[in-house]
Amino acid sequence: MNPILSATQSTYAGVCLSIGCLRRTVVPMIDLGAIDVLVLGAGNAGLSAALVARQHGKRVVVLEAAPKHMRGGNSRHTRNCRCMHAEPTAILTESYPEDEYFADLMRVTGGETNEELARLVIRQSVHCPEFMGRYGVRFQPSLSGTLQLSRTNAFYLGGGKALVNEFSAAAERAGIAIVYDAVVDGIVLDGDCFKSVAATIAGVPASVSAKVLVAASGGFEANFGWLEEAWGPIAGNFLCRGTPYNTGKVLKSLLACGVQRIGDPTQCHAVAIDARAPKFDGGIVTRLDCVSLGIVVNKHAHRFYDEGEDFWPKRYAIWGRLVAQQPDQIGYSVIDAKAIGAFMPSVFPAFRADTIGELATQVGLPADALAATVSAFNDAVRPGRFDHTILDDCGTEGLAPNKTHWARRIDTPPFFAYPLRPGITFTYLGVGVDATARILMADGLPSQNMFAAGEIMAGNVLGKGYLAGTGMTIGSVFGRLAGEGAGRHGRH
Ligand SMILES: Cc1cc2nc3c(=O)[nH]c(=O)nc-3n(C[C@H](O)[C@H](O)[C@H](O)COP(=O)(O)OP(=O)(O)OC[C@H]3O[C@@H](n4cnc5c(N)ncnc54)[C@H](O)[C@@H]3O)c2cc1C
Repeated sequence: MNPILSATQSTYAGVCLSIGCLRRTVVPMIDLGAIDVLVLGAGNAGLSAALVARQHGKRVVVLEAAPKHMRGGNSRHTRNCRCMHAEPTAILTESYPEDEYFADLMRVTGGETNEELARLVIRQSVHCPEFMGRYGVRFQPSLSGTLQLSRTNAFYLGGGKALVNEFSAAAERAGIAIVYDAVVDGIVLDGDCFKSVAATIAGVPASVSAKVLVAASGGFEANFGWLEEAWGPIAGNFLCRGTPYNTGKVLKSLLACGVQRIGDPTQCHAVAIDARAPKFDGGIVTRLDCVSLGIVVNKHAHRFYDEGEDFWPKRYAIWGRLVAQQPDQIGYSVIDAKAIGAFMPSVFPAFRADTIGELATQVGLPADALAATVSAFNDAVRPGRFDHTILDDCGTEGLAPNKTHWARRIDTPPFFAYPLRPGITFTYLGVGVDATARILMADGLPSQNMFAAGEIMAGNVLGKGYLAGTGMTIGSVFGRLAGEGAGRHGRH
């Protein structure tokens, strides 16, 4: 039987002594056959790497923590990736040149990026649609929507779920074994050389060794203990927008084993989502895009930031952090009837009332304070021509903070409110890599046989801030590079 295909029919075969940074323990070894390339995580990054490594004739096994029905990590929640292109295509309008892409990235990261790796991602992003298409992913014709991304972002037909399904089917066809319900608990290194992983497969402890490792197991956004270490107790009020399986076990183990650490544990992509969303996996439908159409107040009914600072696609990713800094990590987006129809509503119905006072009572805000805030805001609105598609001249004067664009009086009933919580998408603390996706050791030298792709190394490019669609692009580009590196490993 093909040892790769037999991987899901695991049998115990012997013992393995863990070395390196794990305690010396005797654990059963699951017989997955001789593995050339062991990929951790079956999201966009891991599956991209697995598919490319397999093309080099390697025996590839993917260990995935989730059961099959929950597969796909955060990638299954996605809709698009950001791609450089020189001219209009069937799926992207106009052009999006390298320098503009890089300037956009510099603006959101405030320069906290590795320019060599960032430019590599940007240049290689031109190939993402073709690469994904090779494995069955289809794209929508260019479209417009609340995020106005038709020029820069290619949208998958059927979203990230369809992408993951196509990649997984392609992997299975290619003879790659994806082992579900396989949680990697720790990495075993000998110096800078990967030896094996300690895993729990279908509830049974196991050790799996391979010649090459590709770490593609996401960030630690689902690990609230670790988030609290970074953010303090306020992290308990965050919601995780994606998979509960990205707990950062692999990341933590690699860092403990002397791999280079990149980024700040508090840096992440976090948006303001409907506070009624579930703790995990609420996905895209819990996001709220009405912030720039009204005002946002905290639990004392005070405004705290310029809701009209810039176009929503350029600002939506700062609102998670802004709400996180408010008392009890809660905010409320307040709009009036004029805003309805101008944004994608959340899956939860808005609170609705005919007066601001009634609205305040419904959501539990101090009614007098909210009425005073709305009244002060209305008085400060200066005449202008409202146009949500440009940085219009509708601003306020004399408020702290002012609303610089799209400020219209909140005066037309019914009034609506959505409660907001910080919704963490993914964390940026990661492992250092070079331009071949090879993991670097703490001394800056490349490891012998370890590669990384996706969220686990995204912090090399995203020191802070976020540019919509770059998560999948980083995963795709570094997934391919990791697959190439792993596929060529051992060849001279
Ligand atoms: C709601 C939402 C919407 C998003 N929309 C977009 C978008 O439109 N465009 C975009 O570019 N980005 C988007 N992102 C971000 C994007 O999802 C990530 O950047 C991208 O999916 C990361 O890919 P990945 O393969 O690194 O991680 P993932 O897809 O999360 O895959 C990691 C995998 O590793 C597995 N894993 C974790 N720990 C272990 C372990 N210890 N052992 C074994 N397996 C493990 C997980 O189960 C998971 O399947 C969105 C994220 C969310 C949550």
